[in-house]
Amino acid sequence: MTTTRFAPSPTGHIHIGNLRTALMNYLIARKAGGTFILRIDDTDPERSKEEYVDGIKQDLEWLGLHWDQVERQSERLDRYAEAADKLREIGRFYEAFETPTELDLKRKKQLNMGKPPVYDRAALALTDAEKDALRAERGAGVWRFKLDQERIEWADGILGDISIDAASVSDPVLIRGDGQVLYTLASVVDDTEMGVTHVVRGSDHVTNTATQIQIIGALGGTVPSFAHHSLLTGPQGEALSKRLGTLSLRDLRAQGVQPMALLSLMARLGSSDPVELRADMAELIDGFDITRFGSAPTKFDEQDLFPLTARHLAGLPLAEVAEAIAGAGVPDDKAAQFWEVTRENITTLHDLQGWWTMMHSGVAPEIDAEDADFVAEAMKLLPDAPFDDQTWSTWTAAVKEATGRKGRGLFMPLRKALTGQAHGPDMSALMPLLQVIKARTAGR
Ligand code: GLU
Repeated sequence: MTTTRFAPSPTGHIHIGNLRTALMNYLIARKAGGTFILRIDDTDPERSKEEYVDGIKQDLEWLGLHWDQVERQSERLDRYAEAADKLREIGRFYEAFETPTELDLKRKKQLNMGKPPVYDRAALALTDAEKDALRAERGAGVWRFKLDQERIEWADGILGDISIDAASVSDPVLIRGDGQVLYTLASVVDDTEMGVTHVVRGSDHVTNTATQIQIIGALGGTVPSFAHHSLLTGPQGEALSKRLGTLSLRDLRAQGVQPMALLSLMARLGSSDPVELRADMAELIDGFDITRFGSAPTKFDEQDLFPLTARHLAGLPLAEVAEAIAGAGVPDDKAAQFWEVTRENITTLHDLQGWWTMMHSGVAPEIDAEDADFVAEAMKLLPDAPFDDQTWSTWTAAVKEATGRKGRGLFMPLRKALTGQAHGPDMSALMPLLQVIKARTAGR
């Protein structure tokens, strides 16, 4: 039975990078008919906030990434304490008392001597009496997991065969001096007890994975399949880390990005399959294949989300946008006609408002100097509102007759005079919705 989890720390709103992780885990579970767990990694009581827990859930719900089970690490502290006891019993856990400054000094010395900055395990040599003295002087120490110094190997679902020499990695601290259990241990206990079979996470976790494989082994658990996706960069390959704050899912949502656009892009970006707009979750699940993803950093440009959003919206039936249309002030009896006219002419639903304002209240016309006389003459020929779907063809025929203009030189100045812009809906379909035409007075 396939079980995956998305395990955000509720220390902020989730962003595009987190979405990549969430989506891959979700799709793996759904594709296999398995279980998708939302695990809140909240062992840090100072940085974890309830508002972010709520925010994460809202964001996942907005995207349609529904979870089957929710777990909170803060409610499982006794499980972690048990695991810690077990590690102590089997001699794989030791207390160390170095201060951050001392550790820093050790690292600098090692680097100066051209050695990798790996913790030297000095604490292993402490006698009980020395430990008591240090504890009395400095308080409780940190607890480090004693790695077996051998190669740690796994077949990564994205990176391929990985082999890491445990001797090049410091024994990881699993419990802090103040007793706080760190993620590395909590995650292992949870993955084991919750039967997680596949873990997909960012490649910044590769070293963690190596140590976690040994911890799982020490606790007698089953090692899940690991896959590490590449990290996202900006369009020019620049680090995204500083901008992630503005790439939160709620910001993208506020900008009008549609969930299907976001999911369609993120289910393919960085893979050898092309990005395709998917109609629904079933198509996304069907078209997902983690083995197609590569290890190279993945360029992400949020601008790519807008054409996908526009295409997604253009294909929606009225019922799915009725609320947004009503929100733009369009009366119910005009909604269907309004949607037909605007659906191909919006990037996000926010653009509906502009079209309705134009139709309902009019806009400042755009009239190029060389067209001013022509537009003024044309306006005299325009019948009074209400217009119908014949108005545009009859009117432009009359204007053509009177002025001798034709083609683009005829239609474009009239479109710009009525709508204030050069692009937009088919004018025959738009005319019946136009209620106020400012060009009329402006042109005279
Ligand atoms: N809370 C961890 C993070 O957000 C989870 C990593 C994992 O998937 O194991 O980085």
